[in-house]
Amino acid sequence: MEAGHISIHAENILPIIKRWLYSEKEIYIRELVSNAADAILKLQKLSLLGEVKTEVPDAAITLTIDKPGKRLIISDTGLGMTADEIKKYINQVAFSGLHDFLDKYKDKDDSQQVIGHFGLGFYSSFMVASKVEIDTLSYKEGAVAARWSCDGSTAFELSESDRKEVGTSIILHIGDDSAEMLESETIKGLIHRYCAFIRYPIKLADSGEVLNETRPLWTRSPTELNDKDYIDFFQKLFPGSPDPLFWIHLNVDYPFNLKGVLYFPKLKHELDASQGEVKLYCNQVYVADNTKELIPEFLTLLKGVIDCPDLPLNVSRSYLQNDPTVRKISEHITKKVADKLSGMAKTERETYAKFWDDIHPFIKFGMLRDHKFFERMQDYLLFKTADGEHLTLDQYKEKMTGKVEDGTVIYASDPKAQVSYLRLLKEEGMEVVIADTMIDQHFIPYFEMQTGRKWKFKRIDSDLSEHLLEGAKPDIVVDAKDKATTTEKIDKVFRDNLDQQQVKIRVESFKSDKVPAMLLIDENARRLKDMARSNGAMAAFAVGMPEERTLVVNQNSPAIKNLIKLSQTFNRHEEVKLMVNQIFDLAWLQQGEFSAEMMQSFIDRSAAILGRLGVSDVLLAQ
Ligand code: ADP
Ligand code: MG
Repeated sequence: MEAGHISIHAENILPIIKRWLYSEKEIYIRELVSNAADAILKLQKLSLLGEVKTEVPDAAITLTIDKPGKRLIISDTGLGMTADEIKKYINQVAFSGLHDFLDKYKDKDDSQQVIGHFGLGFYSSFMVASKVEIDTLSYKEGAVAARWSCDGSTAFELSESDRKEVGTSIILHIGDDSAEMLESETIKGLIHRYCAFIRYPIKLADSGEVLNETRPLWTRSPTELNDKDYIDFFQKLFPGSPDPLFWIHLNVDYPFNLKGVLYFPKLKHELDASQGEVKLYCNQVYVADNTKELIPEFLTLLKGVIDCPDLPLNVSRSYLQNDPTVRKISEHITKKVADKLSGMAKTERETYAKFWDDIHPFIKFGMLRDHKFFERMQDYLLFKTADGEHLTLDQYKEKMTGKVEDGTVIYASDPKAQVSYLRLLKEEGMEVVIADTMIDQHFIPYFEMQTGRKWKFKRIDSDLSEHLLEGAKPDIVVDAKDKATTTEKIDKVFRDNLDQQQVKIRVESFKSDKVPAMLLIDENARRLKDMARSNGAMAAFAVGMPEERTLVVNQNSPAIKNLIKLSQTFNRHEEVKLMVNQIFDLAWLQQGEFSAEMMQSFIDRSAAILGRLGVSDVLLAQ
């Protein structure tokens, strides 16, 4: 037997490891199981090279829980180690790693994932064990089995063992503060979390139950998979989530290795990023969720898995930020997503349109965030019309030729409130696109700018298309007394009676006679105000910003015609005032919400109007 000390500045590994890693102590299982899987893979490779003289056992990682003995044993059928290799790989390498680790992370808390990065994976076992033993037999001809043990101090013991099978067992003497590691439910849970897709079977010794899936979907060829396989796998990863809309199977060999499946989830609401979850794996070993550096922010709306064998198992944030491969991988993922979407837009237009309402926030968000994604997607944007059709902007333009200036896109931001504007435009065969999500407010101005102002979006209530109006009408004199023309008369009646003062009046002849009046808000002034409103610091100013509303009165409406007659009748002043303000409120209502005050006066006035309705007839009949 050999006993010795390793020269190292730290007296005791245990407190150090515990101090930095305690909160994440369960990752020890990932480290030990992935070491076991590595050892098995190495033996298989050596065997392929003809280096292994003995028979290669069936690959297996076995977990034995010895509750009375307070031991957890992780055994593998890997290549094993000789005593010299233990000294080299477990003692020296690890301890030099520890040294670096201490140097770098002395003052930092962000050590969660660094342990493996410094070749300390094996030592994470001391987070749960007061003593660790290695019992191992190397595949090498004539190798002698070895047994190593260490109680977390710098002292180790190394002796011969009577082990007969090639492979390694890591024997953890579980500390009292980690007693839960002796519960099979805990172990199953941890395997499920960290090792669910390790490529070799992980078995519980007593029941023989296999805890993992060795050929997860992303490692298989898309040609051998059907939709159900993808959906089942999704449900396994994200139990209880609504089924995904569609997915992308990533499979790259060059210039880096990357496999994975990204699912487009059905978003519950726009920009609900909390739902997304892309799990990062490294050779089927779980590493982390939503790794920002690897997966562009907007893609975290997606769900799925990415497996990057090129990355070290335990990647630290700073490693990822500085690694050029990581950037390339991230760009590649973005490109693949854009390719999938544009491919669908080109060859499966109907499916694409069907999913559009679910995926457009994601696409717009991505376009706002990532310039390359913008360029890849800009020709594949769809706009849903008020009739539920999905059009590209070019199709929209074609439909609107001659009806609006080329490049103008009329949109409704609140189709319910703006229903009478919609009806008016529909009657004239004009198309309106719906842009009623929060992201549209940001996306539209950005899109206009990025596309060189080729497209001009106008909210449905911002302007009146000439197309809705009758050509110029002779403006006849209607009031002999003051020689006022219809236009002048209407203007005056409104100006004299309207309670609301900050509004311009314009008189027009609509083709339709259904609408007495409409409010228009200047697009630019409104956008400025919207912007200010959504910007915390500016929000207070937004209240005072002018909105430039214009009340457009339709002189073809019977209500307006009546109003003019009434205004020329003796002693009907009160009714004229009621009508003018009611017409204004109706126009306002089509555009947005009443304030409490406006609501009150609208209700009171409506009641007053009802009170007068038909009064003269009833009186006459009495
Ligand atoms: P890493 O896995 O990053 O190399 P570890 O601390 O996890 O660092 O392991 C150190 C080394 O110990 C491994 O590289 C390997 O050579 C050896 N080793 C650990 N576990 C086993 C095992 N189960 N079978 C064979 N060799 C092992
Ligand atoms: Mg390791």
